[in-house]
Amino acid sequence: MATAEDWLAWEAIRHQVALAQYSNGVVYRIIKLLNTSDTRLLSELEMALQGAGSLERIERLESLLYAVRATNTAAFEQVGRELAQELQALVQYEAAYQAQVLTAASPVGTHIATVNVHQVYAAAYAQPFRITKDGAAPVAQLLNGVSEDRIKLIRQAISLGMVEGEPIAKMVQRIRGTRATNYADGLMDNTRRHVETLLRTSVNHMANVAQQSSLEANEDIMAGWEFTATLDGRTTLTCASLNGKRFPVGKGPIPPRHFNCRSYAKPVLKTYREMGIDLPEVVVKGGTRASKDGQVAADLTFSDWLRGQPQDVQKQILGATRAKLFRANQIDVDRFTNNKGVVLSLDQLRKKDSEIFKRAGL
Ligand SMILES: [Zn+2]
Repeated sequence: MATAEDWLAWEAIRHQVALAQYSNGVVYRIIKLLNTSDTRLLSELEMALQGAGSLERIERLESLLYAVRATNTAAFEQVGRELAQELQALVQYEAAYQAQVLTAASPVGTHIATVNVHQVYAAAYAQPFRITKDGAAPVAQLLNGVSEDRIKLIRQAISLGMVEGEPIAKMVQRIRGTRATNYADGLMDNTRRHVETLLRTSVNHMANVAQQSSLEANEDIMAGWEFTATLDGRTTLTCASLNGKRFPVGKGPIPPRHFNCRSYAKPVLKTYREMGIDLPEVVVKGGTRASKDGQVAADLTFSDWLRGQPQDVQKQILGATRAKLFRANQIDVDRFTNNKGVVLSLDQLRKKDSEIFKRAGL
């Protein structure tokens, strides 16, 4: 048994972990797509270079790269379309999920308003991330930037190779990387890492916009939201310093604050008294106290939180073996706060979340 506030804190952290696992699936699917098209791109590059003499290559570099550029653009367009579909489904799910969370945490009979998913998605997709070095840009524009950067890298690598008089295979290898390192030493890996960052951050961005829209639609029962950083060895100073601060709904430093940001917003309900209800505070079934005194400390770390959870919750988040190691203090929590080994589809995320609502008696 827990108060609504405890339960909201507990549920927000649990859902955030599940969302990171969902991100792993998005990354997996989209990188796979990119890899398939990269195989084609590299063989096109190889063919273009082989078809030209060494002097001709230097003179005609731009036209030799024509097919490569077209394949690259098409690959990123496909990535953009797939991502848009993923994010649209995510926003739809998140909006429904947030309505369930508010229903679980508010007094019985409270009307919980839902949002127009298409409007929320369109606004979120067009909304700039406030996180780039050069300012802010929407996700499609950021993706475009990665695509253009990659063509520049390829052109530079080929120019350099030609100046050095390298064999074609060597030039292509610099771009592709070597099998021995699982292609981590190729220029293309650079792009893959940028795309991965962009995917993870856009999932976080979309989930946050969907959440804030749901909170705004239910402003009558909301006191605001609380910035919650995933406190571990990888937390940025910005996020650590914002941790625990409260802001009005729809305002303030809504996460993500930077690329790969794992911070999230915890909804804060008005008290019953503030809602004008003369009842003791709601108690949510199935919630777990987040700390010993029942209050969630502002500096509660993910590790602290996880340690206070029952074994089945630890197991759900970490998997059985890792949960055992964690309890035995044999692995560091940093190793799995963004656990890339666990992959959730949107359906699995939905199922995981619905178990929680069942536990809460909904
Ligand atoms: Zn952050």
